[in-house]
Amino acid sequence: MLVELGDLQGDCHTHSEWSDGSKPIDAWAAAARRRGYAYQVLTDHSQNLTIANGLTPARVEEQRRIIAELNEGYAWEEEEGSGPAGGHAAGFRLLHGCEMEIRTDGRLDYDDALLARFDVVIASLHVGRRQPRAQLMARYETALRNPHVDIIAHPSGRKIGIRDDLDLDWDAFYRMAAETGTLLEINGSDERLDLDDRRIRDALDAGCRFVVDSDAHYMSEWDNVVWGIGLARRGWLEKRHVANTLPRDEFLALIAEKPYRAS
Ligand SMILES: [Zn+2]
Ligand SMILES: [Zn+2]
Repeated sequence: MLVELGDLQGDCHTHSEWSDGSKPIDAWAAAARRRGYAYQVLTDHSQNLTIANGLTPARVEEQRRIIAELNEGYAWEEEEGSGPAGGHAAGFRLLHGCEMEIRTDGRLDYDDALLARFDVVIASLHVGRRQPRAQLMARYETALRNPHVDIIAHPSGRKIGIRDDLDLDWDAFYRMAAETGTLLEINGSDERLDLDDRRIRDALDAGCRFVVDSDAHYMSEWDNVVWGIGLARRGWLEKRHVANTLPRDEFLALIAEKPYRAS
C-alpha cells in the first residue's frame, strides 16, 4: 500500500523566526502538537547562510535550552492529561535540528562536535550552485559521509521557474545515500517539489529511504506535506520507505544508526 498523509508522525524540516521563518519556536511546536504530530524537528539555517540569518554556535546553544524547557512542559502536561485536544497518543516532543549549509569550499558549516549534539541534522546547499559537477558532487559526498548528517534536504536544489536543478551525477548520489543510510528529503514546498517523482523512483531502486517534509517558514505552509505525499505516491513509495512515518523512538533509533553506516 502506498504511503498516505495520515501516516506521517512528524515533520523534519521547519524554520522559526530565529532564521528566516515567521514565528517564535513555541508557536511552531504548539501548532505541530495540535496537528497531531508526535514530533517536529526545528531546523533553522546555519551560520554561513547570512541572508537567512543563520545561527552562530552560541545561538544554537540558546535554542537548545529553550527546546529543553518546552519539552519539560509538554511532558508535564501529558502526565497530568492537560495537553491539547487532538494531540498524538504518544505525546509530542520538539526535536533540535538544523539546516546546515554545505559551504562553497566543501566544508560543513558546523564542526562535528556541535553537529553531534543535534537530534537531527539536515544538510543542504543554497550557494555556489553553478559549480562544476565534480565539485558539487564532492560537496554532497562530504555531507553524505559525515556521521552526523542524517538527511539531505531538497537534493536537486531547483526552484520551479527560478532556479534550475544542480548538475549532479544522480546515480552516484543515490548510491552514496543508500550506502551511508542518509535519508533523502521529498520537500513538499510548492516552489521546490524536490525530489520529484521520477527521481524518487530511481532513488528507491538504488535502495534509498526518504522523509517527506514541509520546509515551512510560515504557519500556512505546514500543509506543504500534502504535495510531498503526492510525489512520494507517484514514486511508488510505501509507508516503510518514509522514515517520518515511524514512531518517535524508532525514528530517533534510525537516526542514531548513521555513524555506524557512514564509517
Ligand atoms: Zn533549504
Ligand atoms: Zn529549509
